[in-house]
Amino acid sequence: MIYVNLKMSKSHYIVVLITFLAVACAAPKSKFGYINTVSGAIPADSLGLTLIHEHMLVDFVGADSVSTDRYSQDEVIKKVLPYLLEIKKYGVKTIFDCTPSYLAKDPVLLEKLSTLSGIQLVTNTGFYGAVGGKYLPDFVYEETAAELAERWVQEFENGIGDTGIKPAFIKISVNEETPLRLVDAKLVKAAGIAHQETGMKIASHTGTWATAKQEVGILEEMNISPSAFVWVHAQAEEDFQNYLEAANLGVWISLDGIGWGVDEYVDRLLFAKEHKILDQILISHDGGWYDPEIPDGGDFVPFTNIFIKLMPALNAKGFEQADWNLLLIQNPKRAFEIN
Ligand SMILES: [Zn+2]
Repeated sequence: MIYVNLKMSKSHYIVVLITFLAVACAAPKSKFGYINTVSGAIPADSLGLTLIHEHMLVDFVGADSVSTDRYSQDEVIKKVLPYLLEIKKYGVKTIFDCTPSYLAKDPVLLEKLSTLSGIQLVTNTGFYGAVGGKYLPDFVYEETAAELAERWVQEFENGIGDTGIKPAFIKISVNEETPLRLVDAKLVKAAGIAHQETGMKIASHTGTWATAKQEVGILEEMNISPSAFVWVHAQAEEDFQNYLEAANLGVWISLDGIGWGVDEYVDRLLFAKEHKILDQILISHDGGWYDPEIPDGGDFVPFTNIFIKLMPALNAKGFEQADWNLLLIQNPKRAFEIN
């Protein structure tokens, strides 16, 4: 009897344990956001200080010729790793790599760089329509939005190629045209479908509000909140009033070329603070990258201007630590977390 009792209590213990684990595992999905890094999913709260738009490797050769044979991962790592180690001293914990498919997106390279640097790296799914479609494979013109979306959902569910590495966001790009060309409108629609199925947010390489507004319009027709949309390269917008219109809708405004010079960002960020829309702004360098076309990968734009140039410039004009926490910690989490 004692033996039986012991068995009973053991199985009871197991039932309790399973129930506890089921509740504990289910809770974060429903209550708390998460993000896929190249090393696995993490709670969105673990993103920490995040640079939301950088590149480790970009190959501009075009969709018809891009290949992992065009570079050596070891050479890329030798070039890029020192820049990742450098920014750890500024507290950077996570970087979103925005290199899309057919521009040398390489999740395995990112995983190696993440392991070597200790920085959490994040990759994406989606296709890049800008530059007249140079980075779109032919099937993009033939397939429907739903078929394209299905490819991205597959990457989210099963990993990219055979790597098992899952994307954290949808990265598309469109040409600056009114109206949008058909293939670009299709990419936006596909991004909307993939967002609805996975919860991944949509970052679109765009430029001006005239173009971004059309993308937001397509998503709104699909009953998708503009807050699922990140307006990439919004620094190209010259009319600051359009930032207010975008922020009012809930669009994320990505001012992301700070690696290339800080001056134009000072005025935009002061405007954002003054008009109380800093909670809709994302900042990054668009820094990097190793370019296989150029000997030794070419010149590298470091991921440091925010810390060594932008912060002193804006702190002198009244920015405080709370503003930087918003821009670099809270906003990236809110913009990209998957619920
Ligand atoms: Zn970029």
